[in-house]
Amino acid sequence: MNRKVTVALVGNPNSGKTTIFNKLTGDRQHIGNYPGVTVESKIGNLNHGDFELEIVDLPGTYSLTARSLDEQIARNFIINDKPDVVVDIIDYSNLERNLYLTVQLIELKVPLLLVFNMSDVAAAHGISYDLPKLSKMLGAPIVPTIGFKGQGRIEIIEAILKLANGETALSPADVTYGEDVEHEISSLQDLLTSLNLASDIYDHRWLAVKLLENDREILRKFNSRDLTEAVKKSDEAIKNKTGNHSDIIIVDQRYRLISRICAEAITSTTDNRLTRSDKIDRILTNHLFGIPIFLILMYLVFNIIFTVGGPPMAWIETFFGWAGKEISGWWAGGSDSALRSLLVDGVIGGVGGVIIFLPNIMLLFLAISLLEDSGYMPRAAFIMDRLMQKFGLQGRSFMPMLIGFGCTVPAIMATRTLDNRRDRLVTMLVLPLMSCGARFPIYALIIPAFFPQKYRGMMLYAIYLIGIFLAVLLAKLLRVTLLKGPPSPMVMELPPYRLPTLNSVVTNMWEKSWLYLRKAGTVILGISIIMWVLTSYPSKPDTTVSDPHLIQAEKLSYSAAGRLGHAIEPVLKPMGFDWKIGTAMIGAFAAKEVFVAQLGIIYSVGEADEEKTVLREKLQRSYTPLTGFAIMLFMLISVPCMATIAVTRQESGSWKWAFLQLGGLTLLAWMITTLVYQIGSALGIGV
Ligand code: GDP
Ligand code: MG
Repeated sequence: MNRKVTVALVGNPNSGKTTIFNKLTGDRQHIGNYPGVTVESKIGNLNHGDFELEIVDLPGTYSLTARSLDEQIARNFIINDKPDVVVDIIDYSNLERNLYLTVQLIELKVPLLLVFNMSDVAAAHGISYDLPKLSKMLGAPIVPTIGFKGQGRIEIIEAILKLANGETALSPADVTYGEDVEHEISSLQDLLTSLNLASDIYDHRWLAVKLLENDREILRKFNSRDLTEAVKKSDEAIKNKTGNHSDIIIVDQRYRLISRICAEAITSTTDNRLTRSDKIDRILTNHLFGIPIFLILMYLVFNIIFTVGGPPMAWIETFFGWAGKEISGWWAGGSDSALRSLLVDGVIGGVGGVIIFLPNIMLLFLAISLLEDSGYMPRAAFIMDRLMQKFGLQGRSFMPMLIGFGCTVPAIMATRTLDNRRDRLVTMLVLPLMSCGARFPIYALIIPAFFPQKYRGMMLYAIYLIGIFLAVLLAKLLRVTLLKGPPSPMVMELPPYRLPTLNSVVTNMWEKSWLYLRKAGTVILGISIIMWVLTSYPSKPDTTVSDPHLIQAEKLSYSAAGRLGHAIEPVLKPMGFDWKIGTAMIGAFAAKEVFVAQLGIIYSVGEADEEKTVLREKLQRSYTPLTGFAIMLFMLISVPCMATIAVTRQESGSWKWAFLQLGGLTLLAWMITTLVYQIGSALGIGV
């Protein structure tokens, strides 16, 4: 019988975790999904002698304070699943910074193995430590490795087995915080015991430290007023004695401990890495050129996404067009089969519409991986931070907002990098106001229909600016109401620049793209079918007109979606909309682009794309430029599409926020559009 040993890999992002995971497990890994959480962690197996190792690659983190989702997942896994061995992958060339996480693992008193990866880089920079000495001081075995060469693989496995068998003579170092803090730690420890709160899963001292670190998850878990009060008192006592809050002191003490240990064990100090990174930084994060360079880089990224992504997008479009015709061909004589319509209009129309964006998404994630791996991304956040702080957001919110101009769904996923839940929620909630690519066809239809050539560019620009302006305003509003408190300051240290490897960049891009395809694909497939049913049923038994386009329009009016459009007309009236616009908007909830196609059907011109001029003329005849503007305004602000709601639900962990986003933005849209329309009509502007 093989003995099973479970192993968790933790470490800072970019320390080489995934590389080592792959070297250890070969290609037998699969993507696992932990119940209740949504971040994918990889699990792989490895057989060695009589042992079967199950290895879990946890998300990269800098800390275990449960500030970001990734930290929470890593920590909860270690505490709840109790792996036999925790392997901390450390970037040896950046030791002090990486040890911050290590110290927290030591505090958890788990069987810990320290892997000093990137030892080639450390050697090249002339960094070297007395490893046996360091190992003794930290109380954990150390294995130096070169991840991508597989060097140190056997040593890691052997060290894991030794730990699992309890053959390691080392015991975790004591991490202490100085008299003032220690006093409060022990009084909280006593309180936990007397209140009978702590279960045996958690170490009491560890809990007390976390409470002083202001760890909301732990506080919420106990939900005890006495405890909350006691923590507040302890914090005040510490503040009185030291002048700083307990969480600051604790972080500070950990870094002091690390410096002390490192200073004692270092054997060589000729570190020239920082000077090279510093030289690059002198230009890239320069306070004059920083922002322009960043903007140019972003411009290039977006340009590449759309220019390089264009042709493959067209191929996919052609393919779905061809597939639609092929499938239609199965029904002789173009008969009115419901199944045909479901497959072609519903499934291919809906799911195809999402897959078309895949090339853009892949390029986007490729660019992000490159920027991340090279070390530029933290700098971009750093550069934008000061500006964003003014709006109640932090620098790291910036990247998701940029992504939001493409598609809100990956943008919301990108908020995972934010280290503070409130910052993350604020960003997530206002993200739909970054006008996404799917709204573009709406503007492209409306603007030329109602506005003379010379104002068209300006109108488009104005719509985008209104979105940004509202996002900023709303973020500020959320900051003083539901999600009170200032955004987290940027405390991160900038990692050194590094040349990204092709393998890691491509894998990263592929994993993220696949996630997009799978998640958006399943959601959109469901919605497409629902939308198809709503616009097709109940079907009108007989028609009074013979023109096929008119039949289509009459059928739509009779269908559930059409009736819904009629039903909501009174609510839409104040904004200047009629039932036809309402019906099209229902479709747009599935995907914004659908609005144009739906309007086309309603205005009986068949495929909106083929005869856009005709549709434009009809719109021009039926509505005023003011209504046209109102439509754009409403589509910009209102109802993020269903996929967005689904992703917000998934990423925020509750329907509450998803519904708040849905209801709040729709209400805001209604109010602003009504205001604009009513004032415009009263003043006679654009009527
Ligand atoms: P993770 O974010 O911790 O999963 O890190 P990855 O495994 O994705 O590795 C980040 C980058 O470091 C990749 O480009 C790897 O190829 C590279 N890398 C991993 N181990 C080593 C190493 O020992 N030396 C060097 N020079 N590069 C490494
Ligand atoms: Mg990784």
